[in-house]
Amino acid sequence: MPVPPPPPPQITEALRRIVGAAGVLDAAEVARRPAGVSRTDMLQAQALVRPQTTEEVSQVLRWCHDHGVAVVTQGGLSGLVHGADAAPAELILSLERMRRIEDIDAVQHTATVQAGVPLQALQEAADAAGLQFPLDLGARGSATLGGNAATNAGGNRVIRYGMTREMVLGLEVVLADGTVLPMLNRLLKNNAGYDLKQLFIGSEGTLGVITRLTLRLRDKPRSHDVALVALPDFAALVALLHHLSRSLGGSLSAFEAMWPAFYHLVTTPPAPGRAPLPHGHAFYALVESQGGDPAADGERFAAALADAMAQGLVADAAIARSDGERAALWGLRDDVAQVRAGGTPVVFDISLPVASMERFVDTLASRLSDEIGEHRLWVFGHLGDGNLHVIVQIRPEDAPALRPRIEALVYRPLAELGGSVSAEHGIGLEKKPWLHVSRSSAEIALMRTLKAALDPKGILNPGKVV
Ligand code: ZN
Repeated sequence: MPVPPPPPPQITEALRRIVGAAGVLDAAEVARRPAGVSRTDMLQAQALVRPQTTEEVSQVLRWCHDHGVAVVTQGGLSGLVHGADAAPAELILSLERMRRIEDIDAVQHTATVQAGVPLQALQEAADAAGLQFPLDLGARGSATLGGNAATNAGGNRVIRYGMTREMVLGLEVVLADGTVLPMLNRLLKNNAGYDLKQLFIGSEGTLGVITRLTLRLRDKPRSHDVALVALPDFAALVALLHHLSRSLGGSLSAFEAMWPAFYHLVTTPPAPGRAPLPHGHAFYALVESQGGDPAADGERFAAALADAMAQGLVADAAIARSDGERAALWGLRDDVAQVRAGGTPVVFDISLPVASMERFVDTLASRLSDEIGEHRLWVFGHLGDGNLHVIVQIRPEDAPALRPRIEALVYRPLAELGGSVSAEHGIGLEKKPWLHVSRSSAEIALMRTLKAALDPKGILNPGKVV
């Protein structure tokens, strides 16, 4: 930092003048808050400020810019890459008091929201208006829309609707010096010059603070078919994806693969879920279709699965018959809490060509056995998007020594395969040393140029991403 930060009393007083007494927590109050939804450590910072309006965010950032105070913006703290971690000398900017859904426009199919609105709150508001906001992920109750955009979140329905980037029509962003960029576009098509909002989507709080968003809504699907299937081998998994994509005519909305150890984990106590299909198959997949004609869509879904069975692609299938059964099947896929029980999970979120996945996982499994010793390996993910979540659970006492070695085993082969070290979770602090696997030095140099142009004093989320 160019200027050393002022002592704590000065910062809390200055911030209270901007946002009021209830909007500022001091260092001791900050330290009583958990550092994240799935974390056991506590937050640390000089102070935490909770503005209620864009104007307050702007004034806070202007003050920080003038005084050289580093700012870490936080949403729902459901991230997995330490992208919102703050240091003791930094200020946390929380958007938790900016939770207003300002407008749902059923004609234009748009929603305008403040950045602190939780994802699930918008899903429910859209649903009540007869529409759908299709972004969906396991942390929907805590993750915020500002955080979803700042990290370009992916989730369960990317195969159909794309990542968050595809759902953002406009943003309002506050720059490091307090300048407000009003870019709340509501048009589906707007090619008037550079699309500046794209700079901030996926920038993980390093280029500006997203304060409001205009999001694209979709028509609410009238049919919703979900099945869990068991498959004889990996080739059948790939063939089934293509078969369903073809035979469901664009209504396939999720294709989630589970390697057998993960399926066993989430269907065996202490996990709350029970196995709809027996253990022992080579692979499992959760498949979902959303369409506009309940009777015909349900028949087509069942027929496509029957056809897959006749072709030998599917060994067994359980089709959900009610909302409760649909939620139970999704509950298995979303039950990532199980990977934390009994050890320390090292979590990966990688992209690679589908054709290379089986060999990648088999090679990883044998290298882990040879080089790491006692561990458990679980693999699942959004196969339709080429995105796998790989989790290696080790003993907590081994984590400091083993984590870098496990990272090398997972990330090194990705360079050769043209894969990515981050499919949907971002870079944060955790993957920064590995960014070069997925981005060329010319790309990283341009990222640094943009960072220097937009945040010349380096006060926004310092040390993250690049
Ligand atoms: Zn995911």
